[in-house]
Amino acid sequence: MSIGYRGADVVVAGGGVAGFCAAIAAARAGADTLLVDRNGFLGGMFTGGNMTVLNCPPAGGIGKEIVDALAADGCAKRCPDDPPNYPIFHYAAEYSTMNVVYDAEMAKILLFRIARQAGVRLLLHSFVTGAVVEGSRVTGFMVANKSGAQLITGKVVVDATADGDIAADAGATFRKGQTEKGILFAMTMLVRLSHVDWPKVSEYSKTDYGLDRAIAAAIARGELPYYKPRERNMVNYWGHARPELSHLLHEDGALLWGGTVEEVDGTKVDDLTRAEVEAREQLISELTFLRKHIPGFGAARIESTGTIGVRDTRHIVGEATLTGKDILARRSFPDGVAYNVKGGFPANDIPYGCLVPRDVDGLLVTGNCISVIPGSTEMGFQLGSFNNLKDIPTMWTIGEAAGAAAALSVRIGAEPRALDPAIVRHHLFAQGALLAPDRVAEQEGAPMPSGRTARAYYEAVLADMTAHWRRMGEVE
Ligand SMILES: Cc1cc2nc3c(=O)[nH]c(=O)nc-3n(C[C@H](O)[C@H](O)[C@H](O)COP(=O)(O)OP(=O)(O)OC[C@H]3O[C@@H](n4cnc5c(N)ncnc54)[C@H](O)[C@@H]3O)c2cc1C
Repeated sequence: MSIGYRGADVVVAGGGVAGFCAAIAAARAGADTLLVDRNGFLGGMFTGGNMTVLNCPPAGGIGKEIVDALAADGCAKRCPDDPPNYPIFHYAAEYSTMNVVYDAEMAKILLFRIARQAGVRLLLHSFVTGAVVEGSRVTGFMVANKSGAQLITGKVVVDATADGDIAADAGATFRKGQTEKGILFAMTMLVRLSHVDWPKVSEYSKTDYGLDRAIAAAIARGELPYYKPRERNMVNYWGHARPELSHLLHEDGALLWGGTVEEVDGTKVDDLTRAEVEAREQLISELTFLRKHIPGFGAARIESTGTIGVRDTRHIVGEATLTGKDILARRSFPDGVAYNVKGGFPANDIPYGCLVPRDVDGLLVTGNCISVIPGSTEMGFQLGSFNNLKDIPTMWTIGEAAGAAAALSVRIGAEPRALDPAIVRHHLFAQGALLAPDRVAEQEGAPMPSGRTARAYYEAVLADMTAHWRRMGEVE
């Protein structure tokens, strides 16, 4: 096979949550943009990963555009206030009312349409195999696909592979895993079920919150062989009993956080292979349990299983690093270009430096692999920040910022490192990605169905966390 070649002003590797927004933002800012993904569709976890539930609506920008377009076609709506949803949406039942459920298959079609309208060129079914580096500057990457090997070059490259594949291959320093042991979060398979009778599940859940009693009895009978006591630290995944469930857009649909596999690393192909197999094996016992013991699931069947969900791997060390303390303090930064979306409003800034790798030029990172501390602020070690930032609405803002910055770098002829973040911010405000203070105040003040404002809810959560970590001596 011969080696092919493609080039563009901005090339984005990975068309998932963040990479999609990066490509759209770059193209809309005038850059000739090529978006590359290993899959035959766009959206990453948002579509092929079967996520189908957002923890809250996006606050602005391209993410809001996506959800509004889905909602306008009846393909997204607020999640019903129903007890079976509560265990998943942490801290308090009231937060589950912020969830947005959507149709992932319709989202695949919508993302193609948005890309076409923005003029983004696509290269699908193409796996990035390595970085092309001149000195300390990334000038492109190699892909392998059915046509053979291809060299992809860009004036600026955006690494949106979630794992920082290009940055790591180019020699950028990264953090991976919590504590000195480098423990990674478990992988989980998201599974869509159909033929669920929710009114019956709901009635049952009122007397068996989180299905705790039914699960304990099934464990005692040896019917859930993979289950073990969960710690609330995300390493053994989550603190409440599984299976975790949520409503879906369609009336009889349920999202099941299916098999969960621990001690696996998403940058190792043998681990990925093992997780795909083991998670599906675990799913059988979960489904059998639900059908046999939970009213409303008697006729439930599997509609689709997502690709195994990898929660976190590499976080590329950037010019700045966001920590759990920044989250607890709801910190804003003069170079804030993206934000953490909580309760549907921007809760804290993400500085531009988190997207700029410290060790290599020509490259911006976006999505899961930006410069943050692994783990989670609520329960992790060393006040990690990653888990608090990984919600899709937040990742959309980080993607949009990276794409805009890449296009502006090309236009100005400056390295991403040398780009004045004020220019990026100005551009993002004009696009409606960054929000004026009155818009933020309006979103923060929006009442939740419980009557509390989204802001009051979130500040109560932060106050609890801060008090806990102060007692532990982590926060002054
Ligand atoms: C199990 C699980 C549960 C989650 N729960 C929630 C939740 O309840 N709510 C919520 O909002 N978020 C949730 N998330 C988090 C959210 O899905 C992620 O944070 C988000 O998808 C990260 O965006 P990303 O663009 O970095 O990665 P992704 O969306 O994974 O996109 C990465 C893209 O890069 C492509 N790619 C990767 N490597 C290569 C390569 N070498 N070559 C070519 N293409 C490549 C992939 O195909 C993919 O399209 C969950 C995630 C997981 C795994």
